[in-house]
Amino acid sequence: MTANRKILFLPGDGIGPEVMREVHRVIDWLTKHRGLGFEVQEGLVGGAAYDAHGTSLADETLADAMASDAVLLGAVGGPKWDDVPRQLRPEAGLLRLRKEMDLYANLRPATVLDALVDASTLKPEIVRGLDLMIVRELTAGVYFGEPRGIETLPDGVRRGFDTQVYTAPEIERVARVAFELARKRTNKVHSVEKANVMESGVFWREEVSRLHAAEYADVELNHMYADNCAMQLVRWPKQFDVIVTDNLFGDLLSDCAAMLTGSLGMLPSASLGAVDGMGQRRALYEPVHGSAPDIAGRRIANPIATLLSFAMMMRYSFDDAANAELIENAVQKVLAGGLRTADIMQEGTAKVSTDVMGDAILRELDKVAR
Ligand code: NAD
Repeated sequence: MTANRKILFLPGDGIGPEVMREVHRVIDWLTKHRGLGFEVQEGLVGGAAYDAHGTSLADETLADAMASDAVLLGAVGGPKWDDVPRQLRPEAGLLRLRKEMDLYANLRPATVLDALVDASTLKPEIVRGLDLMIVRELTAGVYFGEPRGIETLPDGVRRGFDTQVYTAPEIERVARVAFELARKRTNKVHSVEKANVMESGVFWREEVSRLHAAEYADVELNHMYADNCAMQLVRWPKQFDVIVTDNLFGDLLSDCAAMLTGSLGMLPSASLGAVDGMGQRRALYEPVHGSAPDIAGRRIANPIATLLSFAMMMRYSFDDAANAELIENAVQKVLAGGLRTADIMQEGTAKVSTDVMGDAILRELDKVAR
């Protein structure tokens, strides 16, 4: 058995625990059939943590996250906690976790599986075979910049303002993640900003170019304005491989790219932090979707986004592309075979529950083990 992979599970609220259960089953399978060693610990986050401890992220849970190799989170939030003060709300726990772990690079893949090509609102020929990755800077930029506020000027006119600000190290570290990823994919990066109208955009372009020339000249680098990128994403998304951009543009462009695939229940994500003295990178993996209170407890949630988030963990935290691909291929085969959870149902396919989808994925994995 290989060294222990120490994972903290934070199922959270709503459908979180339901979809995370399917990951437990895949971990059991990997342990049994692939000889992998996992040490899985479980904790509370979000509304579940608030109900138990009066805070949406207990200090002990944060310490467990810091001590683990990787964290897998389900989802947080729901109407039950609508009246809880803002600083104690479920979302506050997740934000604190991301901040304390200094997760500065948010990776959102947009992949269109052949079986789901019709789920996109774009024409099949535009999205078939799409496989791109958006790397969004997550801990700086205009969402955090100072000064910010709403004030009344001496003449009585009110104004609101935020500050877009990036330091060279903040740009360099996220660009480095993008270049490294590109080397493992098709070796192409688009760096996206608004250098035509923003000083911070000019600076972003300078810093990315400097790093590229110094260390990543083998990777194809293109610069693109953010508005053009939004247009190109819906015009011809297959021109992209890795897109790296700031917090604000990344927020918008990653949602736009996500919808190229057409289904929230399918979308995984990873948030990566700095590499520590032991060579281990802090990392949190989570589906893009929320806690879906409208369907929680009905066993109809799609577990695939969470399973694919776990596959990303295998690839990026444990450098285990082989087992990541095993999970991704099993998911593809099940979908190609015509099984669907309700959110991705199409004519001519069979509707199944969360756990029956999990059963089918395990059956596909079993075929590999035979
Ligand atoms: P949502 O993603 O929870 O749900 C949007 C719609 O998609 C709903 O109709 C839901 O049923 C459906 N859906 C989502 N995931 C699905 C899945 N795996 N399978 C099948 N259908 C799925 O977004 P929302 O409704 O805007 O938010 C609900 C709660 O989740 C809120 O409290 C919000 O703050 C929280 N939220 C949390 C996160 C997170 O934990 N990272 C992200 C977004 C929203």
